Amino acid sequence: MKISVIGCGYLGAVHAVAMAELGHQVVGVDVDAHRISELNSGRVPFYEPQVAQILSLALARGRVAFSTDIAAVAGSRVHFLAVGTPQRPNSQAADLAAVDAAVGALIPHLRPGDLVVGKSTVPVGTAAALAARLSAECPGVMLAWNPEFLKEGSAVKDTISPDRIVYGLPPGGDAEVARAYLDDVYARAVDDGTPVVVTDYQTAELSKVAANAFLATKISFINAMAEIAEVVDADVTKLADAIGHDGRIGRKFLNAGVGFGGGCLPKDIRAFTARAEELGCGESVSFLKAVDAINVRQRQRVVDLVVALLGGEIYQKRVAILGLSFKPDSDDIRDSPALDVAVQLKGLGADVVAVDPQAISHAMRKHPQLTFTENVATALDGAHATVLVTEWKTFTELDPTWAASLVRRPIIVDARNCLDRQAWRSAGWVYRGIGRN
Ligand code: NAD
Repeated sequence: MKISVIGCGYLGAVHAVAMAELGHQVVGVDVDAHRISELNSGRVPFYEPQVAQILSLALARGRVAFSTDIAAVAGSRVHFLAVGTPQRPNSQAADLAAVDAAVGALIPHLRPGDLVVGKSTVPVGTAAALAARLSAECPGVMLAWNPEFLKEGSAVKDTISPDRIVYGLPPGGDAEVARAYLDDVYARAVDDGTPVVVTDYQTAELSKVAANAFLATKISFINAMAEIAEVVDADVTKLADAIGHDGRIGRKFLNAGVGFGGGCLPKDIRAFTARAEELGCGESVSFLKAVDAINVRQRQRVVDLVVALLGGEIYQKRVAILGLSFKPDSDDIRDSPALDVAVQLKGLGADVVAVDPQAISHAMRKHPQLTFTENVATALDGAHATVLVTEWKTFTELDPTWAASLVRRPIIVDARNCLDRQAWRSAGWVYRGIGRN
């Protein structure tokens, strides 16, 4: 199929190259000229495993091209909207300016029978409003909402082999046509038996924010348990095992630590709350405010722990920060707990040296006041305290004896509970995890 993807960020660029990998003919459009020129040159403007390989294959096969000119969508039958929906400044709500602008730019190039497919995460009701706009300004064009559930770090695999696909279809006869287009786009996954949930716009939109709200709640729940565990000298990792063996609960997303971040969960739960309030049912999701507050508090708790372990004297103490991205295998620093901890410690006067395998260039642009290194040994060298904030494999596999030989004081805060604390203690470290006795 001939497909266009509007917005070539973390979601759109991955979607474009994954669709090309599946055999479609794809054009990606973005307003960011630098991003487009990088993609056309075979360079991925962010770090995500596998994207570089399938991008270069798709370019070599002539299956994908990128442009800043929206007219490049001409000839495509299906147009995916993958632009950003960040949090609005001074508000909890989502900013839909990019969605509105992208649709406005697209409209003159649409033909009757085309299908516009929303992938961006939007407040419930957005699709119905866009469908009304399309029907007024370009009759015969259909809209579907097809939320994206990919996880950064495994985005290519999640796009090519998703664990489910959701189609939010238009009412009436268009539903069948739109579904046939989407079945063609996702033919491989559909043939492989991937569950397809077919529903209306509003359920499709809600399914994305509900999924993120649930995941965020699970993390904040276990972090709340971690706070209690610390007070009563219990071990939250054992607690998570004990409750996670219950199939109704499950062990995934029950890892206590510095909390969630990134370009999705934090802004999505805030936008969900704001939208529910607009709809007059804010009370029903008011618990998400507690989920958010617990999450933000985790970062402060890690900072406080570092300060306490240094006897309250943080000024000019050298602190090694292991990790900057919001999760491993990604360079995404949007609302990253790791970066937040580094910045807070720096603000308290610590001499912060941060190391990360992929996120340094982004972090440097946003927080030039920090010191960065690509070398773990350099970060550890002479440190009074070490904080593991993003569980990159290169950090979780560190040899504690080697690391102890580099630091000034062997104090480690394992803010992801991912180290073998026995091994670290045996190597002479003062080890502190989150919610662990
Ligand atoms: P991003 O900021 O990385 O990318 C957005 C892109 O849209 C940017 O490249 C920007 O230049 C481009 N853009 C903005 N206005 C445009 C316009 N008018 N025309 C063309 N391009 C335009 O954001 P992202 O992480 O890719 O997220 C995009 C959407 O997907 C968001 O709604 C997000 O919530 C959702 N989502 C993201 C992920 C993820 O893991 N990143 C997963 C699922 C859903």
